[in-house]
Amino acid sequence: MRLTKPVLLILLSVLFIFPFTSAMAGTSHVVIIDPAHGGTDRGGKLSRNLYEKDITLIVAKALKKNLSKTKNVKIYLTRSTDKKLSISERIKIARRSKADLFVSLHINAGFGKSSSGYEVYFPGFGKTLARKGDSNEILNDMVRNKYLNDSVRFAQIVMKNIEKVFPRQGRGLRNAPVPVLEGLTIPAVVIELGFATNIKDRKKLLSRKIQQSIATALSKSIKEYFSTEG
Ligand SMILES: [Zn+2]
Repeated sequence: MRLTKPVLLILLSVLFIFPFTSAMAGTSHVVIIDPAHGGTDRGGKLSRNLYEKDITLIVAKALKKNLSKTKNVKIYLTRSTDKKLSISERIKIARRSKADLFVSLHINAGFGKSSSGYEVYFPGFGKTLARKGDSNEILNDMVRNKYLNDSVRFAQIVMKNIEKVFPRQGRGLRNAPVPVLEGLTIPAVVIELGFATNIKDRKKLLSRKIQQSIATALSKSIKEYFSTEG
């Protein structure tokens, strides 16, 4: 049979275009950005009328905007308005959207006025341990190791990129039983962007330019994380 031009075109699309587009669709990643606190739960106070809940929301929205044109990454926010949200509601959003990565944004407070800098938390090992007698114990452990490794890998990328915004301000990577992280079985981190109780950190976090730089550093980290996925 002689291939006519239309037939040839159809064949070409089936052979090349279709697998290509489906492969591209397969590489789409869902990331949940969780601006902590909200509504009456204001978090740390940064100025007369700005709280942790406001700054985390500004950064989250800027991050979403930054990545809006990145084809293989879809960003969802746990909240895009000033509303109160429980930990379980935040976890539910992550589960429902089948997220590949969960990033919770906070601002630290306390430990005296001299404490400053950013820190990144990844899930603790405690509560996520598979129950004894669970037939899926081994499988669960393998999955758990994978998402813990990925959480640490993402946390390290974030530390490296945030360092450019807050030079020599890194307080390190921390493994702690953070409630929002313990409820998830996907790579997840909590980022404490600085201290509301430290005058220098406060000044930085209130700056529009720094807020944008943090969003840029995090967008870059997300892209880097998915491009170096093993
Ligand atoms: Zn907080």
